[in-house]
Amino acid sequence: MTNSKTCARCGEEFDASEWYPTAARHDGESVELFVFCSPECRDAWEAADGTD
Ligand SMILES: [Zn+2]
Repeated sequence: MTNSKTCARCGEEFDASEWYPTAARHDGESVELFVFCSPECRDAWEAADGTD
């Protein structure tokens, strides 16, 4: 079983056994958690408001 994740912005796969930046988005009563390969990707995703 692998422990890989996919970056929510650029789609890059990475090993999620280490710390990676995350962002949570509240959608009504649920919370969706996103994970990113780098702080730069998280910042760009947040700046784009997830709409790109
Ligand atoms: Zn990325």
